[in-house]
Amino acid sequence: MKRTGVVTSHTVRINDEQLTFELTRKAVKRINLRVVKDGTVKVSAAPRVPLHRIEAFVITEADFIRRARAQLAMAAIKRPDPFRYRNGDIFTVLGTSVTLRIQWVSAPKEEGCYYDTASGEVWLYVVADADEVHRRRILERFWRELGKKTFPPLLMTALEAMRQQGYKGPVPELRMRRMKSRWGSCMPSRPWITMNTRLLEGPREYIYYVMVHEAAHLLRADHSPVFHALVAHELPQWPMLKKALNDYFRNKPML
Ligand SMILES: [Zn+2]
Repeated sequence: MKRTGVVTSHTVRINDEQLTFELTRKAVKRINLRVVKDGTVKVSAAPRVPLHRIEAFVITEADFIRRARAQLAMAAIKRPDPFRYRNGDIFTVLGTSVTLRIQWVSAPKEEGCYYDTASGEVWLYVVADADEVHRRRILERFWRELGKKTFPPLLMTALEAMRQQGYKGPVPELRMRRMKSRWGSCMPSRPWITMNTRLLEGPREYIYYVMVHEAAHLLRADHSPVFHALVAHELPQWPMLKKALNDYFRNKPML
């Protein structure tokens, strides 16, 4: 039989901070301290150990407790579940929430996607035995089609802003890719601009911020103050947009 002992709550002061711990009196050889999942500090000690010694021990462990709690807080930031491409799954298109609908078709040539903006549903037509990888591939066609409609007007607007600031080169070639670690890239010598198709999940204003950033690289390859002045000339609020963009995608699964 397991004996849990008597649990009492105590508080010690460390500089300006109060630290509360749960003390369990039981037959243990030394004072034990641990931080449990919700951040509670649990201490166990033998009944004969005076409280002031236990409190002194807790104070010496203050740094450990702080670090353990910080780690727990980090772990608590929920990692998004992987997207499974199931009927009824929710994702976003240009910042609007949509529902994925799966419809089975009999032949690969009938496969495709359709976005019903009225109902907020994206219909995915796939053969009946299509696995997640295959569903993703078919949905990628949808993102590419949307990219072909969405990116070019934003490129032309951003390009016009850069022409006003001295860009005299040709219209860059627009490329699209699904990327994990960057929102876009620019090769000024060619010139071409690559946009991450993931951006199409978010609002247009975030896409435009990335487009202006990449278009500014046509004039400056670096991230110097001169470069940021080019971006700020078109989008004075760009730091807010950058933060909002990253916040928007932080807890989104990779489609
Ligand atoms: Zn850059």
